[in-house]
Amino acid sequence: MSGLSSRRPGMHARQISSSSFAEAFDAARSRLGELTLHQEDEDEAEAASPCLSSSDSAISEEALSLTGSGCSECTPLSPVSPITGLVTPITDADVADNFAFAFDIDGVLIRGGRPIPEAIEAMKVLNGENEFGVRVPYIFLTNGGGKFESERCHDLSRQLEIEVSPGQFICGHTPMREFADRFGTVLVVGGEGEACRNVAESYGFRDVITPGDILKANAHTAPFRKLTDLEHKNSRNLLAHGAKMSDIVVEAVFVFADSRDWASDLQIILDVAQSKGGRLETRSETFDEGPPIYFSHSDVVWSAAHEHVRLGMGALRKIVETVFADTTGGKKLKTHAFGKPQIATFEFATRLLQQWRAAQHGLAESDPPQTVYFVGDTPESDIRGTNAMNEKSKSTEWYSILVKTGVYQEGTEPRYKPRRLVDTVLDAVNHGIRREMAKAGSRLSTGGRRLPLDDAAMKAIAEGRTPNFVTKAGPFSDP
Ligand SMILES: [Mg+2]
Repeated sequence: MSGLSSRRPGMHARQISSSSFAEAFDAARSRLGELTLHQEDEDEAEAASPCLSSSDSAISEEALSLTGSGCSECTPLSPVSPITGLVTPITDADVADNFAFAFDIDGVLIRGGRPIPEAIEAMKVLNGENEFGVRVPYIFLTNGGGKFESERCHDLSRQLEIEVSPGQFICGHTPMREFADRFGTVLVVGGEGEACRNVAESYGFRDVITPGDILKANAHTAPFRKLTDLEHKNSRNLLAHGAKMSDIVVEAVFVFADSRDWASDLQIILDVAQSKGGRLETRSETFDEGPPIYFSHSDVVWSAAHEHVRLGMGALRKIVETVFADTTGGKKLKTHAFGKPQIATFEFATRLLQQWRAAQHGLAESDPPQTVYFVGDTPESDIRGTNAMNEKSKSTEWYSILVKTGVYQEGTEPRYKPRRLVDTVLDAVNHGIRREMAKAGSRLSTGGRRLPLDDAAMKAIAEGRTPNFVTKAGPFSDP
């Protein structure tokens, strides 16, 4: 693979942006189990097939090893997970050891940059403000991105009035760090300004170019897009030292975050997809030799501040594939997506949760929770992925809960059915704890106590009642 060991003409020195997440990640990297990433297939009938398409053959099977279980032709990705060598494990007598929660963020906890009112209360309940005095481990699993994980955790900490650690957080592009060693020059698309380039470099990508760099080098690339003075200043000079555009070979395209200018980004992605092996400003005669293209997720819509859902990265992905076919006489372009509902993302989350439970709560890393309650607002990603993970997981029940505060609209039929439909995340948390209490009650009768229960709760369970919980009614709550 070219570019891995040598720098192309005019290539900038790699800039590493440090973050506690990256440090923690690297420290923990060597002791983790393997991660497998699945290719998503638009065709559900093919979704179980994880192999790369043959159209990626230029760098695909050997270089990528995107795998899924049961695929004998694929090789697992190297060990990885983003956790927490920086956290001192503590023995936590009041922590629930047999269940945990995982949360989507947008439309569940946050909407339009502001916390959903019940979210703050839900976090308090998880952190012990419940009748049982029990604290429940939890992680966050969002398809969003465009910032350093540590930055997003800082934002979330402020919004939810709790401390959120990068050790309990996965965003859409987090798994992309696995690919840093596999490619030389990559095109990184999306996000504000230089943010995604900086994130990619912090992941270890060595030569990151952006659409801005390409537009700076050739303004005719997108006739209706004009870089601002700041964008022009920040964009790199691809033509330094006498280099030509055709000297640059893009080995992979990563859409890290939502595009801020769909038209020019679409043009540039398609130019690369239709090039001779990723070489800029060339055109393939066969349209089957472009580099692989990865999106950090495939959500077509998401829940923002607007009354109605807004278009997301998955919509751009569909446009890229559709227009590629329209402009190549019907050739098929196969792109790839990380994030939910990919099983690999949930497997990644499983390891994160295990490490977080061990690091933060002193629980045995080898002893998984019996149940993980996943709370989401998007049936196509949150519920679909959770249900699929539940089918696959041998040791842990993945229990899907759909809330009504985001993408899902009350009164509609969700395409993927949750185990439970509730109004808000607070209802979801209470439902999960209540369900666990009922299970604990049945275990108590056989002496198998798993949760620390106070006298009132013990009495309630002994009498066959559901214990009361410390909750507050919110605008979406049942009376
Ligand atoms: Mg959401």
